[in-house]
Amino acid sequence: MEPRAALVEYGRRLYERGLIGGSEGNLSLRLAPDRLLVTPAGVSKGFLGADMLVETDLFGRALREGPWRVSSEVRMHAVVYARRPDVGAIVHAHPPVATAFAAARLPLEVAVLPEAVVALGPIPIVPYATPGTEELAARVGDAAQDAQTLLLENHGALALGDSLERAWQRMEILEQFAKVTLHARALGGARRLSDDEVERLAALRAKGAYGPPPAPRG
Ligand SMILES: [Zn+2]
Repeated sequence: MEPRAALVEYGRRLYERGLIGGSEGNLSLRLAPDRLLVTPAGVSKGFLGADMLVETDLFGRALREGPWRVSSEVRMHAVVYARRPDVGAIVHAHPPVATAFAAARLPLEVAVLPEAVVALGPIPIVPYATPGTEELAARVGDAAQDAQTLLLENHGALALGDSLERAWQRMEILEQFAKVTLHARALGGARRLSDDEVERLAALRAKGAYGPPPAPRG
């Protein structure tokens, strides 16, 4: 899919699924090693036009003047692209159940469902900072060194991928997984998979069963 058409399409999917509402959330993808395409500020990402998307440099600065302002949360995206060369796309949404865990500051234990271990991996909770600030961007950048899926404390969630398809899948899987966790709690709590099994699944993830593993620190 052409990059602009893809951002429009995945924005629509997030909205239809109820993972964003109003003008919440933002999406981006990497057009070139140092060039990004980002959704605009202040509009519903469920009804984007291809001409509304903003091209930026790797700092999130718009490359040319235009009628659309780049997302106020662009720095959080830009920091991840700068630090993770393997990341090709980022989806930020406020999925209601996963965000409830982020608001309650309760971590999601992935070692209870194979899909969560393989597709999501460990899910850090990024300590709260005001949305759109450099402080939040720095905290997200640190946490994203070792993760593909992040909860933002009292805010929402972030999913990374080598492609936009993969980042979007992770956001959907995260919300499904949060729902299952919530239901399991009502039934007395989910039982953890055995350590052996978690290791086997983690090895699948490391082998690239679901996108490339995080880049080495450096
Ligand atoms: Zn947000």
